[in-house]
Amino acid sequence: MTATMNKQLQTETLRVDGGRLWDSLMDLARIGATPKGGNCRLALTEEDRQGRDLVSGWLRDAGLEIRVDQLGNIFARRPGRNNTLPPVVTGSHIDTQPTGGRFDGNYGVLAGLEVMRVLDEQNITTDAPLEVVIWTNEEGSRFVPVMMGSGAFAGMFSTESALAARDHDGISVADSLARIGYDGDMPVGGRQLGAYFEAHIEQGPVLEQEGLPVGVVTGSLGLSWFDVVVTGQEAHAGPTPMEYRRDALQTACALVGDILTLARPHAPHGRVTCGEFRVFPNSRNVIPGRVNFSVDLRHLEPAVLTQMEQRLQELCEKHGGQTGIEVQLIEVQRIPPTPFAQELVERVRTCTQALGIPHRDMVTGAGHDAVYISRIAPTAMIFVPCVDGISHNECEDAKPEDLEAGANVLLHAMLHTAGISPVTDTL
Ligand SMILES: [Zn+2]
Repeated sequence: MTATMNKQLQTETLRVDGGRLWDSLMDLARIGATPKGGNCRLALTEEDRQGRDLVSGWLRDAGLEIRVDQLGNIFARRPGRNNTLPPVVTGSHIDTQPTGGRFDGNYGVLAGLEVMRVLDEQNITTDAPLEVVIWTNEEGSRFVPVMMGSGAFAGMFSTESALAARDHDGISVADSLARIGYDGDMPVGGRQLGAYFEAHIEQGPVLEQEGLPVGVVTGSLGLSWFDVVVTGQEAHAGPTPMEYRRDALQTACALVGDILTLARPHAPHGRVTCGEFRVFPNSRNVIPGRVNFSVDLRHLEPAVLTQMEQRLQELCEKHGGQTGIEVQLIEVQRIPPTPFAQELVERVRTCTQALGIPHRDMVTGAGHDAVYISRIAPTAMIFVPCVDGISHNECEDAKPEDLEAGANVLLHAMLHTAGISPVTDTL
């Protein structure tokens, strides 16, 4: 009885080593370091291989067994008491953008490593097995699609199509995996995960602005992408009086002005962005005959996202109704909003509270491996602030104490999910 109580006490007071987590992040950041203090470790390059070797070595040292699947996803497994139970998994990615930072993805993987190191030191065995995963090519910078490893694992597209993807030099994913020695033989996906947790920097400004070390992520925003084509008529800028013009740019500007207001009634989760804009023929003395621009709509609720899409359609019809101007709306891609698993979100919140860490609920507007994995397994995410909300940038930075806080939440969320049986055998 005493031993049982001691063991429970011991796990409740358990904490990660924030200094060791920081040192590991800095050690990994030396591989593919850029002059401005960032990282360039593109998927399946020599730098990626070195990063994978380093982190796999650390995971082995912490007592985990490494397996690699056909897409190079790395799974490090820590056995539980009952290995017929599906594993409780955590992880992220260690590939970066060409001018990427030291924390995006890397934090999620190394926070998982730190959890495993603590459990190894304390000789704690969970009921369900634990795993740390490193997903291949999350960034999508060298090979498309983005979130390749987790997407194929979740069955969003086939492993064959991912292996056939080529970079700008015509080198395929399959060849690159073989070249760096990460062409594993384990099939991609097709096995059950008991739970998936991913710790990640927020990549936005909210937590820092509000002075909170942890964000409890309740789900990811849905996304609708459109192209808009506004067609008028090209004509000479000199001889054509204003009232005779069919100026595509004039209509496009008025339309964009209206479109950018359509998220206002749907704050705080409604978002609209026109990020790409092209004018034809783009010549100083020609009235623009055509304008192409993009629209990116996001919201957490499917019904509201649909309302926003309808409003976009109405605005296009309204502006296209003018004489001589045609407005065409083309759907490009749609990803439905993804709520995370309530039970796991609640567990993250409870663990954060129990640790006395100030926090708030939030949603992720960016894509993460967790968003794909949430389609096939109960999933939750833990956000920590990054300095000035800046990411995908060499200046990306985070505070050691926030990274430590997030890793402690991860530790306890995983322990509570995997379960720890009372230990009586020490009596
Ligand atoms: Zn990331």
